[in-house]
Amino acid sequence: MTESRRDFLKATALTTAGAALGLGFDAAADDKLTAASRLTDAQGQYALPPLPYDYKALEPVIDETTVRLHHDVHHKAYVDGANNALKQLAAARADGNFALVKHWSRELAFHGSGHVLHTLYWTSLTPSPGGEPKGDLSKAIAADFGDLAKLKAHLTKATVAVEASGWGVLAYQALDRRLTVLQAEKHQDLTVWGATPLLVIDVWEHAYYLKYQSKRADYVAAVWDILDWTAAGLRFEAARSAAR
Ligand code: MN
Repeated sequence: MTESRRDFLKATALTTAGAALGLGFDAAADDKLTAASRLTDAQGQYALPPLPYDYKALEPVIDETTVRLHHDVHHKAYVDGANNALKQLAAARADGNFALVKHWSRELAFHGSGHVLHTLYWTSLTPSPGGEPKGDLSKAIAADFGDLAKLKAHLTKATVAVEASGWGVLAYQALDRRLTVLQAEKHQDLTVWGATPLLVIDVWEHAYYLKYQSKRADYVAAVWDILDWTAAGLRFEAARSAAR
């Protein structure tokens, strides 16, 4: 493991209920990707990572206004919510009053998972897509789905079909060393133990409604043009080496 890879792993280490989703980032030489993948600040507080590109860089697939609101308002709210839940749980430990432990545990799961998933989402997208998956990820897609077209059909249908708000997820299941497609309807409840998300597609309405309105399928179809398979490949490499 190179020094930069070790730094990257450290920068993205996470311990919260949200980690049940398994943020398994490891390698990246790209500083922007590293910064955009960092969930906490120097004090260990959750922090909103910078976008790895300009607000308007994903146009025409995703418009500037949507990205601005989505990142600065929606994602920020998850960060603040997770920090508040940690604070409330610390207060409960300090005074021994756990009357609201269920509430704050749920808040931590909801906001912590939202923070993890949005961080993955921004780094699942890129204004300069490098084409199709490469290397070991490409081989794993062939082994586990048949080919990229079949993965695309499966992940697209699963994402469009998410009931109400949620996410389409391509994940690596370390327990049986297989790629898998998941739907996350209530992201605080998504606990497929051992699965590490490699690439996620947000289908909460705030992710697409300004531009696509009710046409979620059009948004998901368009998002395929800006998926970052390089970042997904790095996450796959990290998840696989952790599973060895
Ligand atoms: Mn969102």
